[in-house]
Amino acid sequence: MGNSQNKNVPKRRTENVYNVTPPTPFMTEEEFFKTWYIWKNDFLLFKRTLIGTNSDKQQWGNMLLNLMGPIGQNIHSTFTFNLQSEKENIDILIQKFDEYYIFSERKKLPLENVYEYINDLELMIKEKNITNGEELIRKKILTEINKHQFTNAANNVIPTFVFSSDFNKLTLKEIAFIWKLYTDSDNCTRCDGIHSPEKCPSLGKQCSKCNEWNHFSKRCPTNYINNCYYCGGNHIYRKCPAFNEICTKCQKKNHFKWKCQSIQIPQCRFCGLSHAANRSLCSAKNNICSNCKLMGHIPSRCNKRFHANRLQNLS
Ligand SMILES: [Zn+2]
Ligand SMILES: [Zn+2]
Ligand SMILES: [Zn+2]
Ligand SMILES: [Zn+2]
Ligand SMILES: [Zn+2]
Ligand SMILES: [Zn+2]
Repeated sequence: MGNSQNKNVPKRRTENVYNVTPPTPFMTEEEFFKTWYIWKNDFLLFKRTLIGTNSDKQQWGNMLLNLMGPIGQNIHSTFTFNLQSEKENIDILIQKFDEYYIFSERKKLPLENVYEYINDLELMIKEKNITNGEELIRKKILTEINKHQFTNAANNVIPTFVFSSDFNKLTLKEIAFIWKLYTDSDNCTRCDGIHSPEKCPSLGKQCSKCNEWNHFSKRCPTNYINNCYYCGGNHIYRKCPAFNEICTKCQKKNHFKWKCQSIQIPQCRFCGLSHAANRSLCSAKNNICSNCKLMGHIPSRCNKRFHANRLQNLS
């Protein structure tokens, strides 16, 4: 809705109009962590009751910070914002406080393994019994990755990848895979560590796996897969990140979508869309055609109508 902000509109008084009382300030940060969801619901109820009199997102953001008191304001001072105008936007603030409540100040450390980090976030979600966890983790990751670097890395496996439209179609494992592509790309192929050239600690050492020299067993060619058939990455044998993952293209297990071998139908004769050659993936599978009353196709793909049209055209 085009709700252009007009700065000249006088601010309306919102206090003392209704009986709903706003929540009281937090006394400690511990209290914030114990009661944030209840507190937030009280606040949103209060806001809903008064929203008819004031819908200004900045003013509501200010109201939130005032009601939270110094504890909330201290937490607020640790947030980073892309735009100055987001600093007091109520919708953004609620999202940031949710994120803080769930993940505290957890961020991926520079050398931390991406998979382990995301795993940790998933555990945090589980501990707090939150239902839309995957969405929250996705939002959290969005605040930490570099969109430009991520897009460049993604283009290695998905040449057509466009951040704005494709990021949300990735599974968390696929996100981790791509994120890792540009954060861990310099690991040494002999020792898996990071060091300056000629300083590899494996030089002069014998591998315990194959008895060859100058590499560690964790990077032993007998134990290490390059350009994996299932994920497209390089990793230790049996440590494929795509293991147990469901491909978003064909719904089969154990590979990422960019390694999908299933045949794509460009234009399905039942639904008219493009999807993997698997009848169970057809969006018209359970559709009852309004034209012929049979199940399994959409009316524009109905044979009966086709004949009817032909007859019409002939007459
Ligand atoms: Zn090395
Ligand atoms: Zn070896
Ligand atoms: Zn793999
Ligand atoms: Zn697939
Ligand atoms: Zn179809
Ligand atoms: Zn039909």
